[in-house]
Amino acid sequence: MSAPGPATRRLHRDDPYLLEFDAQVLARREHEGRPAVVLDRTAFYAESGGQPWDTGTLDGVPVVAVVEQDGDVLHVLGGPLESRAVHGRVDADRRRDHMQQHHGQHLLSRAFVETASTATVSFHLGADVSTIDLDAVVSEEAVRKAETLSNEIVWSGRPVRSRLVSRREAEDLGVHAADEAGDEVRLVEAEGFDLQACGGTHPERTSEVGVVLVLGHERYKAGSRVRFVCGARAVAAFRARTSAVDQVGALLSSPLDDLTASVARLQEKLAEATRRGREMTDRALRAEAARLIAAAGSPAIVTAIYDAWPADDLRALAQHLVAGGTCVALLASRAEKVHLVFAQSEGLPHDIPGLLRQALAEIGGRGGGRGNLAQGGSDSAAGLEPALAGAERAVRERSAA
Ligand SMILES: [Zn+2]
Repeated sequence: MSAPGPATRRLHRDDPYLLEFDAQVLARREHEGRPAVVLDRTAFYAESGGQPWDTGTLDGVPVVAVVEQDGDVLHVLGGPLESRAVHGRVDADRRRDHMQQHHGQHLLSRAFVETASTATVSFHLGADVSTIDLDAVVSEEAVRKAETLSNEIVWSGRPVRSRLVSRREAEDLGVHAADEAGDEVRLVEAEGFDLQACGGTHPERTSEVGVVLVLGHERYKAGSRVRFVCGARAVAAFRARTSAVDQVGALLSSPLDDLTASVARLQEKLAEATRRGREMTDRALRAEAARLIAAAGSPAIVTAIYDAWPADDLRALAQHLVAGGTCVALLASRAEKVHLVFAQSEGLPHDIPGLLRQALAEIGGRGGGRGNLAQGGSDSAAGLEPALAGAERAVRERSAA
């Protein structure tokens, strides 16, 4: 850390609703290749304590980031700013969103202490969803209890107040403050419910949070991670889910109260159809193998190219062919890509992996295998027929020797 720079009065600490202000530029810097200014006073919140920075403008120039650096509040700008006296405007929607999420987090974290004796070890206010990490694993029931209590506190519209106290006073009140908070600790209190050290922007009343909605939770490290949204984000999340559910309902021609059962029935049908499909495919593959063996001379060397067969089917056909006795199968499927499967019956003398490598080299592909079965593929079908013919010739020569 270098020596602290000029101090900036942080207007948002006394009035989180102040969105416009006048200030003097105290210093000009550069931050990650962009111009940045330090002001004598600011309503812009610098990223800290899990809450992202405010955006807005200074004299019409976009403020793209606000960061603390060596004790200074750097307003990082999207373009040059010449004037010394500037007028600042904070983006109102983003500020209100952050206040809703951050205060909602205070209430939800306290609710987990009250209902599940679980403390929050970290908080992240994300672009879409926020998370808290709890120091214990919580059940679905515990999560819903904490959510319910949070909303009761929201809807009771309790006053929220902030004040500066000495570290000693904070400790006497049972509030733990991080070391970097210094000797003066800012307390944020939701009357009669929550008291904690925090530098963030909070509303005047809990009711401004609107609603606290837990979207989900999962085990994380030794505890649980809880995903949540508050206020306008909760409305947006509800809309998105409603729209998705409505679309699924329309696709299935199913009313909402039968939707789960409809999906379950569909899954059952799909499982049955998949099972039947596999059975029919296997029958067809066995019949195809029998036809090919019958048509092949002796020694039985089957060379065949199919259009757009799945690799699994090609491999199954090869296995059926070689299982019957003495057969060499040189199979290919041709679609956008080419797939090759070479196989021979147990006891035949050919170097199947070597034959495959040779064929793949001719069509610019990759693959491998061991013993009696090898497979591979290529992005191009150019030269496929001559490559297979070459492999067949090698097998005939070896068989005749
Ligand atoms: Zn906070």
